[in-house]
Amino acid sequence: MSDADMDLETARRELEGLRSELEETNRGVLALYAELEAQADQLRQATELKSRFLAYMSHEFRTPIGSIRSIARLLLDRVDGPLTEEQEKQVKFIQQNAVEFAEMVDDLLDLAKVEAGRVEISPAWFEMVDLFSALRGMFKPVLTNPDVNLVFEEPHGDLPRLYTDDRKLSQILRNFISNALKFTQKGEVRITTELVGDDKIRFRVSDTGIGIAPGFHRSIFEDYSQVDSPLQKRLKGTGLGLSLSKRLAELLGGHVELSSELGKGSVFSVTIPLEVVATKQQ
Ligand code: ADP
Repeated sequence: MSDADMDLETARRELEGLRSELEETNRGVLALYAELEAQADQLRQATELKSRFLAYMSHEFRTPIGSIRSIARLLLDRVDGPLTEEQEKQVKFIQQNAVEFAEMVDDLLDLAKVEAGRVEISPAWFEMVDLFSALRGMFKPVLTNPDVNLVFEEPHGDLPRLYTDDRKLSQILRNFISNALKFTQKGEVRITTELVGDDKIRFRVSDTGIGIAPGFHRSIFEDYSQVDSPLQKRLKGTGLGLSLSKRLAELLGGHVELSSELGKGSVFSVTIPLEVVATKQQ
């Protein structure tokens, strides 16, 4: 064998070795891919399971909570005879806790539905004034603090009618307003609207309450997130309302925003298209 032939043979062997090494690596990569795929699948299943569990559990909770609320109402209406002052206080306490529990369960159920991609938009034409008067009616019974005014500023000029899912929009605004009332001891909670360009509308809920430090502006829109201050801790909710609002706004083709100054107040806003494009959730 000539020198040249030997060189060629060595090169061929080296190449052979390299190829089999490459093949092995390739097999390894493929195996890794398969494993990753399996893990992603498991994760999808786990998420789906979590959503189903949450939806199921929340649904099952609704009936007993409903019963507790009805019985408390019957007792407070004195259907079963008089109550002493202390008993009335206690039944009111039960009622209030049942209401909070019901709200928590509703939020959980909604969030689970959004996560599972089961929320559909049902758009319809409606007038802003009707939305405002419905909200005004809803909040009238809970306005117990005489130092805080709830003001719905009627839209200036002619606002076009909206074609969107009014129940979801109302849910977002209800969340903003009830938070604003919860964290405002004095002053007002004001709801205003404005056109953004010619195809969007912004609703603002501004309050003169305790405000939110800049460090929390992003995180409070995440699940279970609450501000770490003594007052905000005392008025503990679930921390789900704002993340639900954010997702609902996105479903309506819009977004939520916050500007706030500690000690001065907050402005939560939601901007959505005047006409939603009805699509199924991805
Ligand atoms: P929840 O009110 O059930 O705790 P949310 O997601 O609605 O959950 O709100 C998250 C947190 O953001 C609240 O716990 C509170 O700390 C803070 N927050 C929301 N709205 C306001 C507001 N208008 N003023 C001050 N803090 C607020």
